[in-house]
Amino acid sequence: MPEATTEQVCPQCGTGMPVHEGYRVWCAGCDWNVAPELFVYGVGGTAERRRDFAGRHGTATFEELAREGTQGLRARLTPSSVLAGVLALLVHGLSFVLLGVGAWLLVAGWGNPFAVAFGALLVLTFLVLRPRFPRLGGTAPQLGRADAPRLFALVDSVAAEMDTRSVDAIVVEPYVNAAVTTYGLRRRVLHLGLGLWAVLTPQQKVALLGHELGHFANGDTRHGSLVGSALHTLRLWVAVLTPDPWDGRLTHLLVIGMMRIPYYAAQSGLTLLEKVSLRGLPRREYLADDLAAEVASAEAARDLMETLLHADRIDSELRRLSNEAAAFASRQDAPRTDVTLWPRLAEHLASVPPRERERLRRVSALDWHQQDSTHPPTHLRIELLDRRGPSVAKVVLDERTESAVERELRPAAKKVARTVARDM
Ligand SMILES: [Zn+2]
Ligand SMILES: [Zn+2]
Repeated sequence: MPEATTEQVCPQCGTGMPVHEGYRVWCAGCDWNVAPELFVYGVGGTAERRRDFAGRHGTATFEELAREGTQGLRARLTPSSVLAGVLALLVHGLSFVLLGVGAWLLVAGWGNPFAVAFGALLVLTFLVLRPRFPRLGGTAPQLGRADAPRLFALVDSVAAEMDTRSVDAIVVEPYVNAAVTTYGLRRRVLHLGLGLWAVLTPQQKVALLGHELGHFANGDTRHGSLVGSALHTLRLWVAVLTPDPWDGRLTHLLVIGMMRIPYYAAQSGLTLLEKVSLRGLPRREYLADDLAAEVASAEAARDLMETLLHADRIDSELRRLSNEAAAFASRQDAPRTDVTLWPRLAEHLASVPPRERERLRRVSALDWHQQDSTHPPTHLRIELLDRRGPSVAKVVLDERTESAVERELRPAAKKVARTVARDM
């Protein structure tokens, strides 16, 4: 940990401010210089972000959960989640109606060229719009059980604590984030961003797995894939039905007129489904945080949130290290940057002085830091975890297991290190 070398005096209140080279000097007494960029861009910018959709619903849900308490609270059907589900089923239902009518025209109208042509068109339309099961694709390394038995055992133990099925595959990526989705019919995949994983302490890693698997336990991914595929179908409808600009011919005007109602129907359906599906997101995230706290301890879940506040710092250091590695790559005596990249990233975050960590905690409440557009403001997530009170870890990642897990991840980590520049 770098020591503070000198001290300055706050121009606003006169309190002493330790100076850490490379970090911003700010006053803990009156918050002087805690986030000057917020004032450069104007408080209006901040206020605008506060009005941001996720932030707004994040706050309303926060207040509700702060009253109720999150402990032991599990996912439940809310009017918006039911409406999103019903809308999604209607969208997919319409696709199947097209298929049914098309098939009927083909069979009953066989011999009539118009019926056959129209029937074939409807069946083809169904093939384009049909609900899709996402596949595991991409170039990122994919791990199965046999590739990483200790890592899977760790994920299994977290899943077992939550009474949910574990994952079938783990995809290793460079991002400062993690996610879970489904693929195929009922298969589950964990996307592990090494930019985040590499900088976490063992217990924070358990908390991250707890949060992600919490989304499975709460049925978020099932809901997400139903709604997600319906959104995809609606976007296709809108793209197909969007009228071309009028070319001046009367017949074209007629076509535009006829398409108007279906176009607006698809467009409003899309807007509505986007809105109602966003509404439920903050609640899902807070409840996944609660499961993370239950499995890994509230303290570890909170530490994980605080690490998320440094996502930009980790991200830019990761880019810097990978550019440096690229510059070395042509040299004979090139160091093994693909091996050292992730440990160096972890060292970089570990060297951030406590004072800078405290500054980012304060800034997060001012600039409404969010992990990404789907997550509620981080400072509210931290506050809910604080209100939850301390809890004992149910899954503990000891040092020996952690190094075994890291050994299993090494081949994939090396591969990802070499492609950071390309993928990020
Ligand atoms: Zn001051
Ligand atoms: Zn989440």
